[in-house]
Amino acid sequence: MKKQKLVIIGNGMVGQAFLESMTESKARDRYDIVVFCEEPRPAYDRVHLSEFFSGKTANDLSMVTHEFFMQNDISIYIGDKASRIDR
Ligand SMILES: Cc1cc2nc3c(=O)[nH]c(=O)nc-3n(C[C@H](O)[C@H](O)[C@H](O)COP(=O)(O)OP(=O)(O)OC[C@H]3O[C@@H](n4cnc5c(N)ncnc54)[C@H](O)[C@@H]3O)c2cc1C
Repeated sequence: MKKQKLVIIGNGMVGQAFLESMTESKARDRYDIVVFCEEPRPAYDRVHLSEFFSGKTANDLSMVTHEFFMQNDISIYIGDKASRIDR
C-alpha cells in the first residue's frame, strides 16, 4: 500500500507530543512523516524557557534528540520554515 505523506509544520511541544503518540500508534505505518521546524533546534520546553536565563542550557530544555527522528524514520528539516501549502 502506498503511504500517504503526513507533513507537520512546527516542532513545538504539541507537535512533538503528536509525533511521540504517532510512533506508538498502529496508524504509523500508513504515513511518511515530514516535519518542518523553522527554529534552529527541535522541540524544547518553552514552559521553562525563562530558566535559560538562570543557567539552564539549550540541551537541558531540549525535549527530543536527533536520534528520535532517525530511529522513527521521520524526516525533519531544521531551520526550514514552511512558507506555503501546496497539496
Ligand atoms: C516563557 C514561557 C512560559 C510559559 N509558561 C507556561 C506555563 O507555565 N503553562 C502553560 O500551560 N503554558 C506556558 N507557556 C505556553 C506554552 O509554552 C505553549 O502553550 C506551548 O509551547 C504551545 O505549544 P505548541 O507546540 O502549540 O506551540 P509552540 O511551542 O509555539 O511551537 C510551534 C513551533 O512551530 C514553529 N513554526 C511556526 N510556524 C512555522 C512554519 N511556517 N514553518 C516551520 N515551523 C513553524 C515555531 O517556530 C515553533 O517552534 C509558556 C510560554 C512561554 C514562552
